Parts: sequence; C-alpha cells; structure tokens
Amino acid sequence: MHDEAAKALEAAHQHALTWLSSLQDRPVPPREDAAQVAERLGRELPEGPTDPRDVLDLLAEAGEPGLAAIPSGRFFGFVMGGSHPAALAADWLTSAWDQNAGLRTVTPAAMAVEDVAEAWVVDLLGLPHGSPVGFVTGGTMANFTGLAAGRGAVLDRAGWDVATQGLAGSPGVRVLVGQERHDSVDLVLRYLGLGAPELVAVDDQGRLDIAALSAALEEGDGGPTMVVLQAGNIHSGAFDPMTEAIEVAHAHGAWVHVDGAFGLFAAASPAYRPLIAGYEAADSWATDAHKTLNVPYDCGLVVVRDPAALRAAMSMHGDYLIRDAAGDPFEKVPELSRRNRAAPVWAVLRALGRQGVADLVDRLAARARAFAEGIAAIEGAEVLNDVVFTQVCATFGEDAVTEDVVRRMLVDGTAWTTGSRWHGRAVLRVSVSNWSTTEEDVARTLAALRTAVAEARAAAR
Ligand SMILES: *Cc1c(COP(=O)(O)O)cnc(C)c1O
Repeated sequence: MHDEAAKALEAAHQHALTWLSSLQDRPVPPREDAAQVAERLGRELPEGPTDPRDVLDLLAEAGEPGLAAIPSGRFFGFVMGGSHPAALAADWLTSAWDQNAGLRTVTPAAMAVEDVAEAWVVDLLGLPHGSPVGFVTGGTMANFTGLAAGRGAVLDRAGWDVATQGLAGSPGVRVLVGQERHDSVDLVLRYLGLGAPELVAVDDQGRLDIAALSAALEEGDGGPTMVVLQAGNIHSGAFDPMTEAIEVAHAHGAWVHVDGAFGLFAAASPAYRPLIAGYEAADSWATDAHKTLNVPYDCGLVVVRDPAALRAAMSMHGDYLIRDAAGDPFEKVPELSRRNRAAPVWAVLRALGRQGVADLVDRLAARARAFAEGIAAIEGAEVLNDVVFTQVCATFGEDAVTEDVVRRMLVDGTAWTTGSRWHGRAVLRVSVSNWSTTEEDVARTLAALRTAVAEARAAAR
C-alpha cells in the first residue's frame, strides 16, 4: 500500500481508539462551540499540500473539545443510537472498499451484502416475505421513499401517472397523520409536493384516535389517500393502534405507511412485539438503522410491500447503466451513487443474531423503566408518560424548575438529557437508544439528576 495511505489510516485508527476510550469518563456535552473549533482548524484554505497524516492529527486535535459524546452510554438526548463495534468497524471497511453500491454487475460483493441484509431485515422485522428494502440515509429519507411509492400507487389507481403527468391537474392526494407525528413527515410531504398533512386527534399518550381517523376518512370522496402511522412517539414511546388503523385505512383504499424510525425494532423482540401488533398489514415501513440498531450515521431502511410501486417511484433509465435482470439497488432509493450502506447493517445483524437484537431491544426498554422508577422516587418529580418502550418524559415542578434541571444536567456533563415540551409542559426527556448503556450509566445519571433537581429547587425558592 501507498505509505501515505497507511500512515493516515494508522492515525485515524489511533485517534478513533483514543476517542472511544475517553467515553467512559469524559463529559458528555461538548466543551467548545463550532466557532472555537473552526479557529483551531484554521479558516484559510491552504495554497499547497499537507501530509494526510498531519491533516488527520489536526482534525482529531482541533475537533476533540467540540465533540458530543453521542456514542457514550450516557447520551440520552433526542433519539440517537451509538455504534455497535461490528457496525462501526464494518463502516470503516466500507469506506476503504469504496464500492459504488448502485449497480449489481459492477460491485458483486456489495450487492451480496445488501441482498443478505435485505432478507435478514425483512425476516427479523416480520415483514412480508420478498418485500424490497432500500438502504437510505435515515428515517426522513425512508419516510420520503415509502410515501413516494405510495403517492404513485394511489394516483395510479385513480388513473393518473404521476411519473409522466406530474401533480398539476391530478386528483391530488390526501394525507392523514396523528397530531403527534414526527415533523419529518411534514418535510417529506413538501418534497413530494403534497402540502401539509391533515392532522388526526390522538389520545393522552399521542396514539392515533381510531374514531377520529375513521371520521376523517368518511369525510373524503374516496380519492387517492395515504395514512401515516407512528410506531414509537418521540416523547412517550407509544405506538399507534396498528391493527385497527390499517383496517379502517384499507377499507377506504388508502396506502398505509408506518414511521417506525426507532420503534419498528419492537417487532424484533417477542416481549415488545405486542406493542406494534398488526403493523405487517401496512404497505410501507420506515426505520432507522442508526437508532435502535446502533449502526453509525447515516443509515435508514425503507421497506415496501409492492416492489413495482417502489421501482416506479425510484427507478431511472440511463443507456450507460449496466442493468441486471435481478434488479439493481439504485431502483429502491432516491440516490444513484452511494456507499455500501448495507455492510454495517449486515455486520451488526451477523454479530448479534436474532436473539441478540431481541436482547438489545429488551435492554433499552428495561433501562428506560429503571429511569422511570428512579425519577418517580425523586420528590416532586413526575413521569408524564406510560413508559412502554425506550422514552421517558418527566417534570420536576413548575416549567421554570424543569427547564433549570435540563440546563444544570448539561452543565454537570455526566449525561445528556434533552429538554422539550409535551402536552403544554416543559419536560426533561430521556431516550435510551445506545447498545452500551449499563445499569451503572443509569445510576450515575440518576445521581446527577437528583443533584440537579435539589439545586434547581433551592434556586427557585
Ligand atoms: C428520528 C426520527 C425520524 C427522522 O429520522 P432521521 O434518521 O433523523 O432522518 C422520523 N420519525 C421518527 C419517529 C423519528 O424518531
């Protein structure tokens, strides 16, 4: 190998190990902001060359104080996973291989990995046998891809070919979704030219109200319609009632898409599968591999029941492309050229096996329950949601006190928890999404939380 490449890769390896071994004890939030890091990186574009090894050293050293310890077992912010070792290492190899994973005949190893991972994902998640899987950048693009397939299919049934005719003059597509949908649904509907969704009432845990969905569908004229269901509410972790919602939506001829960015993996656990029961009757499903499955960024998965609907939305023609009769991966995703994103997915599934994925899901949910118990034991604290999965939302009195607790937790740095608002109240939110979170991580975080609450209460007096 080129000496320069070997030295740069060795530097990357060393810096990566230093970073990973710092996670146990470093503060979870970053210590510097982007402007400070940019100063050390240097803002001037150099006129001449720099040795790649020196470039790596500069990146690692300048960047270090500005890194958030997202792979730490004590990062509970937003809904983000860590990186399982097998997935992380496979991701490095993916970059070294540098396969363009769009065309079957050009990159057979990448295709084999993708084919096997596709079949495993469908099997593990209990989805209809033979459904194609697109390996996209994340949940947002998985929602986009599933709903693009749905848009084409429901318009096609109304005698309208969106691929050639566009949307202007079309019968249009109604999209119904629960009030507590993830905002990425609104975003992808903008990409798709469908405007804002119609919001359907939800219950106290954020679950779609079936009577309200049914009434909204009744009001329609039976034209092209899609219903977007949620498997895993970011605040409560709750799941829409899949069986009933899919039944009523299908009775009205609607396409049903499930946004299961972190919750679809409940299907991989016999203990948690009942939460999502009935989901397999939908038409398309979106999930993230970079959340519950703990693959590095960026990796999302879209699964569509009807391969023709997916291909109609995502395929393209180019005379220069060497097509394969078995179908090419670029026909299932919005991109043409892309990295072999399936390799880290294959690696983590190969490392964990079916039982290991079930154990991972069960462990995340068990840690969330431990948080709920620990928080409920703090005087004046209240857990607002039914902790059915991996999410916990808590208040510590007045909004101002809860907001102060969130701020103090970040200053303390033991863990990262996020502030949010849910049902009109300030909340502190804990999302347990990292494969490596131990009971000790939970205990350390709860100890920091007890201190933050005591201090915030004292300051409010
Ligand atoms: C995270 C999330 C998304 C968006 O996923 P990205 O990977 O961030 O694009 C969509 N829906 C839900 C429910 C999520 O939790």
